[in-house]
Amino acid sequence: MSHEAIRIDVRSTAAGAACPGCGSESTRVHSSYLRFPADVPSGGRLVVLRLQVRRFFCPESSCARRTFVE
Ligand SMILES: [Zn+2]
Repeated sequence: MSHEAIRIDVRSTAAGAACPGCGSESTRVHSSYLRFPADVPSGGRLVVLRLQVRRFFCPESSCARRTFVE
């Protein structure tokens, strides 16, 4: 049995994302961070998911959500 781990990098290729509060499309990235949703054992090997998540500024100044996660 192998203990070799497989790492999968997941990131969105979209230029922007829509604000869930007002629906405005934003391409102004506030920050991004890495998330590790689950380590999935697969056939005796460990699969490590590495998910890059971006936070955007909402372009709508009247929107209650100033920033949101894609
Ligand atoms: Zn908004």
